Amino acid sequence: MDVFEHVIAGKEVPSIDGATMPDIDPYTQEQWATVALGSAADADLAVAAAREAFDHGPWPRMGYEKRQKILHRLADLMDEHAQELALADTRDMGKPVTQALHDVERSSWNVRFFADHARLSMADTYPMDSGHHAYSVHDPAGVVVAIAPWNFPLMMSTWKVAPALAWGNTVVLKPAEDTPASATIWARLALEAGVPEGVLNVVHGFGPNSVGEALTRNPAVDRITFTGESSTGRIISAAAAANLIPVSLELGGKGANIVFDDAEMDNAVRWAVQAIFRNAGQVCLAGSRLYVQNGIYDEFMRRYKIAAESMKVGDPKDPTTEFGPLASSVHHDKVTSYFDTIAVDGGRILTGGSGNGLFVNPTIIVDAPATARVCTEEIFGPVVAVQRFDNEEDVVSAANATPYGLNAMVFTENLSRAHRVAENLKAGTVWVNCFFIRDLRAPFGGIGDSGVGREGGNFSREFFTEPKAVVMQITR
Ligand code: NAD
Repeated sequence: MDVFEHVIAGKEVPSIDGATMPDIDPYTQEQWATVALGSAADADLAVAAAREAFDHGPWPRMGYEKRQKILHRLADLMDEHAQELALADTRDMGKPVTQALHDVERSSWNVRFFADHARLSMADTYPMDSGHHAYSVHDPAGVVVAIAPWNFPLMMSTWKVAPALAWGNTVVLKPAEDTPASATIWARLALEAGVPEGVLNVVHGFGPNSVGEALTRNPAVDRITFTGESSTGRIISAAAAANLIPVSLELGGKGANIVFDDAEMDNAVRWAVQAIFRNAGQVCLAGSRLYVQNGIYDEFMRRYKIAAESMKVGDPKDPTTEFGPLASSVHHDKVTSYFDTIAVDGGRILTGGSGNGLFVNPTIIVDAPATARVCTEEIFGPVVAVQRFDNEEDVVSAANATPYGLNAMVFTENLSRAHRVAENLKAGTVWVNCFFIRDLRAPFGGIGDSGVGREGGNFSREFFTEPKAVVMQITR
């Protein structure tokens, strides 16, 4: 059986008290690995290692070029170990291995991109009239705590940690308790690539009254970057406020996917399937509210139902599988509990519902009122609530009637409508005629309950550095 321990100060170590937890494969529902179960003492040790590496180690001092080379070596190693990393996520949370391999590709790109971006990005200069000259310098912020969710274990970890490292910080990464494996393998590869001891530490454990809470309360930490549920984000924000440190929160969503009459229908159907059924809907960006205009509703729904029902459901380790089980039995219970709400709130299951084991089949709900829980709450599973609409004004106001604001999708061939609707939607990202396509320089984050702050490109630099102004006298 595989064993995943903490990685602290360059060594793989068990918990101080020797505690462990089982790592369960949601497809077989059997234990496939044993994981060190950390406590506050392990979290403190990891922060102390990161603090020491930041205050006295070479990483913050070696300059961008050397860090860039080491991070590129790490990305190369990730590509070489793609199968191992992908299988770790697949066994941890049931993601089809083909999708997990795609995540690894995007993860190594995260590392390469930020290594290059940190080296190439320009600082500002401010010519002054008074015989002086000013410019800005971006110093690394210090010790970064990165807390990741279980839905894209490696991809989310690299999205947070790569920019932190590229700008010279040291890191303590806490993966979600259900998905500890890929982060541990990644930390091993980082050491092999030449990332110095103590620069990337990984501690395993739970959130409340455990490793997560201890990390967010530790006064030696300079930044917290968190991805997870909105309710957890509120708790972490309060912990960061107590230590007066910046926090970046990437939280939940209830994405609106709007398909107008003039959309290219095959494209809209294909993306509407991907938007809610990829990764079994366990995606913060999921298009879980689908709005279809009246004129095409019947034909769109006919094609959409066929496409949802033809997804290949099965063993996530099989490369031909498109749709796997949910990540854990706890999460399975949460998702299926929404089926009971339909009887009370209204609505009808057009296709899907509970499957075998921890599977929930691709599920389409129609005729639910806009106030139904399936239309308002983040289910975080393969469950889409479809509503029809008449005109642009109505659909924009329906789409915006949510406390979330992470993302939205618009399908139309009308250029001015595309721009107008994109402008009027309250969301951190709007995709037009596509979904999930990213440029890592662009801001990523959410409005309202979907988060605080933006990451990506220079937005990550703003968060992971302390900008300093230097003012020089030029003439006396
Ligand atoms: P979660 O909030 O339950 O847990 C996320 C992480 O926080 C885990 O590592 C957990 O151990 C830790 N944690 C929990 N309570 C904590 C506490 N009190 N102090 C410190 N750490 C704590 O979320 P999850 O169920 O793992 O992930 C699913 C959620 O993440 C969904 O809401 C989803 O929308 C969101 N998400 C958002 C984005 C985004 O970019 N906006 C991306 C992926 C997932």
